[in-house]
Amino acid sequence: MSTVFKRIIDKELPADIVYEDESVIAFKDINPRAPVHILIVPKKEIPTLKDITSEDELLLGHCLTVAKLVAQNNNLEGYRIVLNVDKAGGQEVFHLHFHLLGGRQFNWPPG
Ligand code: AMP
Repeated sequence: MSTVFKRIIDKELPADIVYEDESVIAFKDINPRAPVHILIVPKKEIPTLKDITSEDELLLGHCLTVAKLVAQNNNLEGYRIVLNVDKAGGQEVFHLHFHLLGGRQFNWPPG
């Protein structure tokens, strides 16, 4: 069954899209955890980081380049990139994605 992100990629569901190219889409998180909270999503359906292969290396690197671009577009001086992996890692949508969070101070270690 397709995930909510696949349906956004296929334009079956609306989203506030801030960037899109042939392999990656970025849109605002519906339940933001920071003033800026944008999801960077490869269009290829990869459920979790555990499912990547060496073939995905360029695509994942491209996701980080897109994250940098989107952060710049939002004038973020510093920010956090999060990749939740599987249920124990807090993942809820099983279509690999990066969270770009910014606009507030982040602490380390995370809570
Ligand atoms: P994760 O827990 O890493 O799988 O993150 C999934 C994220 O997707 C959560 O932060 C949700 O708020 C977000 N989300 C779920 N459905 C939508 C949607 N339709 N549009 C935008 N963000 C969504």
